[in-house]
Amino acid sequence: MSKNGVKTQKKFSAVHSSWSHSAPLGEYASVFQAEVLAIRVCAGESLRREHRGVHVRILSDSQAAIKALAASSINSKLVWDCFQTLCFLSQHNRVSLEWVVGHSGVMGNEKADAMARRGSLTLFIRPEPDIGTPKSSFRATINRWVTDETTSRWSSLRGHALSKRMVAKPNPSTTEELLSLSRKEVRLVVGLVTCFTPLRFHLNRIGVNQNTTLCRLCGEAEEKACHIIFDFEMLSNRKFHLLMSPTPMEAFPSTNLATPLLGLTKGLGLFD
Ligand SMILES: [Zn+2]
Repeated sequence: MSKNGVKTQKKFSAVHSSWSHSAPLGEYASVFQAEVLAIRVCAGESLRREHRGVHVRILSDSQAAIKALAASSINSKLVWDCFQTLCFLSQHNRVSLEWVVGHSGVMGNEKADAMARRGSLTLFIRPEPDIGTPKSSFRATINRWVTDETTSRWSSLRGHALSKRMVAKPNPSTTEELLSLSRKEVRLVVGLVTCFTPLRFHLNRIGVNQNTTLCRLCGEAEEKACHIIFDFEMLSNRKFHLLMSPTPMEAFPSTNLATPLLGLTKGLGLFD
């Protein structure tokens, strides 16, 4: 006997040699929950068929689900229910739970994957949550709300044209990048993005008089952050070879803000 349980997010599918089942799980179910549920459904189906004295092999491509079921302690009701179902089944049968590599041509696994893909078209029409809401779902929902609110306030804020051009919305990748830098480097990057940087135009605006506010590099425009960063026409000869990027948008993707800015200022020798 061979069974296979496979899931994709928000739905699950379980396949038996003569039976298969898949169902949507709603918006809040996690992938892990779908994986465990698929195993429980397989074991439950064997119980329903009143199997006795047979070897029940349940194949899953989820290492996380198998490890959770084999752990010395269980703190998830779903995992506990699945564990109990396997225990009931093992009272009269030999039960083995085996891991198989996903998408590797295992027949039941491939069928379960195909069913899971088709299941994405099925509407979930029961009240949510269907199988309990994991902490990760709460965290993801809260994080999404925070990101949306912050983005909305940021985009509706007046002014800050350069900062908005450089940082359109909260970006964990940029945060990580900044946290890995020295204080001096962070100050330099944040200064350029917010225009609080010792360039002639900005210094003049806060009362630090300069003989001229013209750019020390080209002498053709005011020396301010947006000119240094984005006026490629005037500075292209010196900047292109530093950035090796054909367009401003490619040179300064929001996912990689600090590195090109640091490379730029270092290459231009602006704050040496
Ligand atoms: Zn210039």
